[in-house]
Amino acid sequence: MQISSQPRTVKTTCCYCGVGCGMLVHTETVAGRIEIKSVEGDPEHPANFGRLCSKGSTLGLTAQSHIYAQTRAQAPERRLTKDTPREVVSWDEASEHVAQRFADIIEEHGPESVGLYVSGQLLTEDYYIFNKLVKGLIGTNNIDTNSRLCMSSAVAGYKQSFGADAPPCSYSDLEHAKVIFITGSNTAFAHPILFRRIEAARELNPELKLIVVDPRHTETAQMADLFLQILPGTDVALYHGMLHLMLWENWLDQQYIHAHTEGFSELKNLVRDYTPKAVAEICGISEQDLHTAAKLFATSAATLSLYCQGLNQSTSGTDKNTALINLHLATGQLGKAGAGPFSLTGQPNAMGGREVGGLANLLSGHRDLKNPVHRQEVADFWGVTEVPSKPGLTAIPMFEALRAGQLKAIWIVCTNPAQSLPDQTLVHAALQHAEFVVVQDAYAHTATTAYADVLLPATTWAEKDGTVTNSERCISRVRPALAPFGQARQDWEIAVAIAKRLEVKLAHRRQDASTSLFEYTDPQTIWNDHRELTRGRDLDITGLSYARLEARGPTQWPYPIGALKGRKRLYEDGVFQTPNGKARFIASPYRATAERTDARYPIGLLTGRLRDQWHGMSRTGTLARLFSHAPEACIEVSTGDAQRLELSDRELVYVTSRRGVQVLPVQISKGLRSSQAFIAMHWGGEFVSGQGGKAVGQGVNSLTIGAYDPISEQPELKFCAIKISKANLPWHLSAFGWFDDDTALSLQIQLRALFTKCTFSTATLFGRDDARHQTGVSLTLANLEPFEPALLERVRELFCFTQSTDGTSVMTYRDQRKSVERLLAIEHSTEKKILSRVMLTGSVVDLEARIWLKQYLETLTDISALGRKLLSPGKLAPQPIVPRGKIVCNCFDVSEQSITQCLQQTASSDPDDLLAVLQAKLDCGTNCGSCLPELKNMVTSYVD
Ligand code: SF4
Repeated sequence: MQISSQPRTVKTTCCYCGVGCGMLVHTETVAGRIEIKSVEGDPEHPANFGRLCSKGSTLGLTAQSHIYAQTRAQAPERRLTKDTPREVVSWDEASEHVAQRFADIIEEHGPESVGLYVSGQLLTEDYYIFNKLVKGLIGTNNIDTNSRLCMSSAVAGYKQSFGADAPPCSYSDLEHAKVIFITGSNTAFAHPILFRRIEAARELNPELKLIVVDPRHTETAQMADLFLQILPGTDVALYHGMLHLMLWENWLDQQYIHAHTEGFSELKNLVRDYTPKAVAEICGISEQDLHTAAKLFATSAATLSLYCQGLNQSTSGTDKNTALINLHLATGQLGKAGAGPFSLTGQPNAMGGREVGGLANLLSGHRDLKNPVHRQEVADFWGVTEVPSKPGLTAIPMFEALRAGQLKAIWIVCTNPAQSLPDQTLVHAALQHAEFVVVQDAYAHTATTAYADVLLPATTWAEKDGTVTNSERCISRVRPALAPFGQARQDWEIAVAIAKRLEVKLAHRRQDASTSLFEYTDPQTIWNDHRELTRGRDLDITGLSYARLEARGPTQWPYPIGALKGRKRLYEDGVFQTPNGKARFIASPYRATAERTDARYPIGLLTGRLRDQWHGMSRTGTLARLFSHAPEACIEVSTGDAQRLELSDRELVYVTSRRGVQVLPVQISKGLRSSQAFIAMHWGGEFVSGQGGKAVGQGVNSLTIGAYDPISEQPELKFCAIKISKANLPWHLSAFGWFDDDTALSLQIQLRALFTKCTFSTATLFGRDDARHQTGVSLTLANLEPFEPALLERVRELFCFTQSTDGTSVMTYRDQRKSVERLLAIEHSTEKKILSRVMLTGSVVDLEARIWLKQYLETLTDISALGRKLLSPGKLAPQPIVPRGKIVCNCFDVSEQSITQCLQQTASSDPDDLLAVLQAKLDCGTNCGSCLPELKNMVTSYVD
């Protein structure tokens, strides 16, 4: 698509979570280039009605050309042997090389020897082409996606219970619900705009009850009327216990059960054993709370369940989904306004991937891979001899097969498995062992691109063109506002170019070898093919077209020919997609997590999301301000465990599971039960790592377990057993400073090369120095052994202490006997002197000054009067400075300290008044609203 060189406004869709918010991208011309001037929520989009969260509202900033220049893959690269670096090649050379290598491997070892691992961030059109390429042309079902990590248990649950993978609800059900049951989802962080809608619904209807089920007391739980802090993985027992009570109390909808379901007697027999006493014990909650939850769920006029990874990422993920759906079926809480089991998808187009059948065990248009008629329908439509019946390798088995040498070649698209899959030791060994690795990505420096034999640069948000489907089955257009960066191409275009070469080499797979299977020149033609494959299926969109999407905007499926609008709600007639039209009760007993805590690994590790980061941080990790809410990786431990283990905040600990070790600083949390800990899922080896001494870490997934659900094959990323012990690392280094926006990210990427040399390493960004066009870069290292002189010299060099810089002087303190060094670069201007860079080396005690030095540096404090006092090592700042604490409101840069100060100055004890004052005086919480749960919590704690 030709991109206009004139400033304009483009309607598109956010590329982060499954809420699928519409956005308006305003462009401008800067030095002859089209750049993004700003983004705002699309007031007409039915997902968000103009709102955007902290991630969505900063999307435009992540697409600035100085960021892209340092982070994007800009041209195809290839290496001919594993020992040589990749070199830039033409698109023709890269495409031919990939096609030839795949053809050779398929020729020698068969189609099962290759696989594709793609992404829920691809557009539906991209997904369609990859699926056709693998299942149609190559003749294997070895295509899986990172959506396997995200929602395959939800797919399996819907299919088992309803006969089809179709979320029955709409976002507008939030406004009709009388009880919202949030289970296994920190909606406030993971789906913020939906949480805004829940807050708004509660304001309109104060009677609306919110029940939250989670092992952690999350920001979502803080808003709950009833919070069930269950023990990890006990969800199935909880739901069976609720059903037991519903049966006992006669709260069931017998008429609905009789008319629209089957299998209830078996389930009834099963839940007989789930007595309130037994369930309260298994789940670690009170019988009273269990009773209240069951009563509210069953007797409300409309109960809506929202759930996400807390249910799905589990070895009993499918059972958790079906056990929850059982509750809806048994109480008739679906097929009506405000009711139903509503799975929230984590990724922007996980749904689109499901629709085109882009997973190893799915087939296009919600067809069944096991069904020979369905396979032949798809094969005929594609013009290939057959679609193989054998299900392909799903995510974990795919990497296991790669490590075992059964899979020879892998093509990874738009995802970073060397960060996101569990059990990273296996994943890194697999990529190391692979004969041929192709990585197709927009970003050049992910953990996975390091393994690429061929790197194919792809377009990303604001450059892509196609469609996505969000959690509520709503199809939205994704439109390009910018031209592709460098030589990047659309994902489908890259696939088509390689497929056309490959089909010549694999001609026997085509029904008619004289025509290409891949005559696609634009996304619309691809989408039209996908549409045709939905004809007569539950997701029929034959009445929809790109033109209609242009004219009418986002539309929910199904939308068959003749439809006037998309279907808001499914199963309103009580007829399901099963052979007899009845929904099925699934009677699966509760099973514990794959790993249990024991004397050796006594603590349960939970994982989850941060508010302002997205997945492996390839994009959000390029914008300094998105680190201000959670500046660095840490392990949250409960207050009780911290006391027992004698741990203090920020102290480094070894976190050890049966698979790996990662050193992390401690953060003491009141939201955790004893014997549980939490690490955010985003922290991969690109930001926190360590190798040497006892620790060999590549981020959080060094620790997590690869065990997966036997039906959905979704891994149990949410829980594993760990132990925590003091790290006591004697040697520490901390360096931080301001760098030009044009070089800061490159520096952060260069610093990763030091990670392998230390027991603990982390490098992140900080600050929002927009006026001076500077970005803060921070490095922390800790080691068991003294740092190598070459490493120290490299840090001095990277932080510019080895050359003189105009307008800057350096203050130095060295005690070689104790290996202590302090280097401060001071910037002089006519008005004041400020710190611009700092490097401190020594023991923990020698580095205590880093806290106040970083505050001076961040706040551009005038240090003219301080002289050599700046070189003092202690905790006490020579000139008092009030710590800002973390930034609560990212939109207006409002810190914890400002909020506390404002509360102290306000003469009111009414929480609503206090919140209003904060919003009026500081603006916090008045833009994207992502900080509102935290603000409300701060106000409540202050009043209490
Ligand atoms: Fe994007 Fe936030 Fe909307 Fe999710 S909730 S789609 S991250 S703006």
